[in-house]
Amino acid sequence: MKPLQSLTRPNIWKLKPYSSARDEYKGAAASVFLDANENPYNMPHNRYPDPMQHDLKAELSKIKKVPAENIFLGNGSDEAIDLLFRAFCEPRVDNVVAIDPTYGMYQVCADVNDIEYRKVLLDEHFQFSADQLLAATDEHTKLIFLCSPNNPTGNDLLRSEIEKLVRSFDGLVVVDEAYNDFSEAPSFLEELEKYPNIIVLQTFSKAWGCAAIRLGMAFASPEIIDILNKIKYPYNVNRLTQKQAMEMLSRYYEIERWVKTLKEERGLLEAEFAKLPCTVRLFPSDANFFLVCVTDAVAIYSYLVKKGIIVRNRHSVSLCGNCLRVTVGTRLENEMLLEAMREYRG
Ligand SMILES: *Cc1c(COP(=O)(O)O)cnc(C)c1O
Repeated sequence: MKPLQSLTRPNIWKLKPYSSARDEYKGAAASVFLDANENPYNMPHNRYPDPMQHDLKAELSKIKKVPAENIFLGNGSDEAIDLLFRAFCEPRVDNVVAIDPTYGMYQVCADVNDIEYRKVLLDEHFQFSADQLLAATDEHTKLIFLCSPNNPTGNDLLRSEIEKLVRSFDGLVVVDEAYNDFSEAPSFLEELEKYPNIIVLQTFSKAWGCAAIRLGMAFASPEIIDILNKIKYPYNVNRLTQKQAMEMLSRYYEIERWVKTLKEERGLLEAEFAKLPCTVRLFPSDANFFLVCVTDAVAIYSYLVKKGIIVRNRHSVSLCGNCLRVTVGTRLENEMLLEAMREYRG
């Protein structure tokens, strides 16, 4: 890996971050807070939240078995993705490389930040080759984006290729593990110490059932985490979110049960989809959704909408012609989808 300084935008490297009242006074013993121009009434919403989310990181650290100093928390993983561009990529100079197809936010953030986005097509098994991704890089490539299990294809990327890429690329490799809870593959969190150039993204939006609270996690070396913390909005994770996340962490067993159920439901749903006359090909999934190639994705999508059932039409995405992406729901929701699909006459 190149020295972190040479991967970081010079203005960010030398940036002196905004120092909030809550940053400057950290002790807990005080009882009179007259430092932040808050309203003394309307407890507890009157107080600014902890800018560094100490309590939440301490709990997460236990569950994820990663020291708190390796954790960044943001307003969804989307905040972390955007901050990575802003920290490391110089507009109109640097570029990033990503697999294609994948999660759309990487390209959107690249476009917003005016960073060249280089796509490398996956193969027919939706896998990538480390050599091909490396061949797309040059001296201005700061980040490579991988997503495993990948969205919208649903499959885990090959671990051997990910490791090969991480070892041979001298920039930063982002591994988005938004769906890792549903996969049998071990998380790359276990490899954080081994690979100083890896950034693992996870989220409360999927397995944790908390898309509404907007809480995303980035795990990386303390040096990388410090840079993200330096440029984030001071109070980027609000108090209600921190509180709800703490409560979810105390109900960890429940999330494990949801995941187990959803994996079973995924199996049932896929088995039934395989029998449908309009199914052309079903792709194996390691996530809480699956991709299915159908006879006419656009027609079936509209047909389902008329029945009040919304799936994701991925027809216009690379390698996903005539594909629908189906999220696994409750038993009842899945049955309603299947019933509608069985009645479809193309
Ligand atoms: C859903 C999803 C996320 C989650 O984003 P949040 O901003 O945390 O809700 C991240 N990455 C991928 C690939 C996703 O599909």
